[in-house]
Amino acid sequence: MPYLPIFMNLDGRPVLVVGGGRVAARKVAALLKAGARVSLISAALRGELEARRAGGEIAWLGTVFSPERIEGFRLAFAATDDPALNRAVFEAGEAFNVPVNAVDDREHCHFISPAVVDRDPVQVAVSTGGASPLLARAIRGWIEALLPHGLGKVAAAAARLRHAIGRRLSPDDRRRRWEFLFDRARTVRWSGEPVETIEAAMRRELRRVAGKEMCGKVYLVGAGPGRPDLLTLRAVEVLQQADLVLHDRLVPEEILDRARRDAERVDVGKRAGDHHGVQARIHALMVEAARAGKTVVRLKGGDAFIFGRGGEELQHLKAHGIDYEVVPGITAALGCAAYAGIPLTHRDHAQQLTLATGHLQGQDYGSDAGSFPDYSEMSCTGGASHTLVVYMGVKQASRVRQKLLEQGRAASTPAALIIDGTLDRQRVLFGNISRLPALARQVPDGAPGLFIIGEVAALGRELAWFGAASILEAAA
Ligand code: SAH
Repeated sequence: MPYLPIFMNLDGRPVLVVGGGRVAARKVAALLKAGARVSLISAALRGELEARRAGGEIAWLGTVFSPERIEGFRLAFAATDDPALNRAVFEAGEAFNVPVNAVDDREHCHFISPAVVDRDPVQVAVSTGGASPLLARAIRGWIEALLPHGLGKVAAAAARLRHAIGRRLSPDDRRRRWEFLFDRARTVRWSGEPVETIEAAMRRELRRVAGKEMCGKVYLVGAGPGRPDLLTLRAVEVLQQADLVLHDRLVPEEILDRARRDAERVDVGKRAGDHHGVQARIHALMVEAARAGKTVVRLKGGDAFIFGRGGEELQHLKAHGIDYEVVPGITAALGCAAYAGIPLTHRDHAQQLTLATGHLQGQDYGSDAGSFPDYSEMSCTGGASHTLVVYMGVKQASRVRQKLLEQGRAASTPAALIIDGTLDRQRVLFGNISRLPALARQVPDGAPGLFIIGEVAALGRELAWFGAASILEAAA
């Protein structure tokens, strides 16, 4: 059964702690921080607890617990190393209507303590409903990494100027103003400043936008190669603020699920055919939504600036005076190489790296005669100490092979093809330049595939660490 999450005001309220060990001392410290009046019953009184009693911070009610002693307390914690005694405290709580928490004994708890991320006055409490306190602690660690340390000061500054954000504004407008302020707080790292400075900066920003329609902003975000845990922290943050997410076809559901729950999602993925119309529609959607004050996340696979048309989209935004921010993503070459155990450079094998496209239309749909890039301009791709990564090359494998052979690379040069890189279903196929088309034939329809060509490609056989079972030799 799920618990009801609440934050309780204990300021000046009496709370009983039974027990005198480390756990009891921790509870006492947390209770005092929350302003509670703490009474203690414990077999002995030592160390920190003794010091607190001597300093008048807590009252010691002696060594013996009996049920009626619980009467009148708001809450009680049983933190002794005697399970029977802890249970007795719980039963006394039942009898006298005092909620009790018996440490490490979920059955004898009226309430449980969450794992807490503390950015006073911001508190994030995590509970697994008692299923796994250790999981709750792990989750706390994940959240710790997400929240800036000075977040409490941003909250304190926000509390001071709550009234300054007009009540006459519509709720949506108010939300946007706050989001705008919080976003500024994050990007300019106000959280490192004193509260007064943050408040003054927020007021300045509010004056700057006073009376204006809040124009939205477009975040051009790289979603990485597909694994949700390869998103950047910044990508997750902006997804959490999104009103509208315009995403490519290749971005998986688990990543889209990181978007704010109310955000509208639109798949603007290009399919075979009308590239021009699709790109024009994306441009129009971004501008229209930003002008309506929306926070737009334009979410692209990998990195938006690597074969992602990110540049074109920004030029369009710039021309229309729309605010934007670019959030880098892990591009397929880096993600796939890492998850295939293929170091893209290596002192003994490769001193140069080229990221190339096998296709000039921007996504891998069908072969498009005449759109193949001219690798001969890249004189260096011929060198033996060179790693070449080919995006969108699966349908162009024969032409890639032909070009490389024409440039004098040996047909026996190692090559790897990574299919669905970084996803649980990743497959890595090994071969060489002469086998590029054979490798390409293994790619299921619609799955992304990436070639890594050069001496380093062979190292993946030795260094594979992920999905090793799916490593296959390509048929000759
Ligand atoms: N902007 C993207 C690339 C888009 S082009 C980036 O930075 O990664 C699309 C091509 O990227 C695909 O044809 C494929 O070659 C490659 N690709 C993207 N994700 C991939 C993945 N998970 N596994 C293998 N190749 C991938």
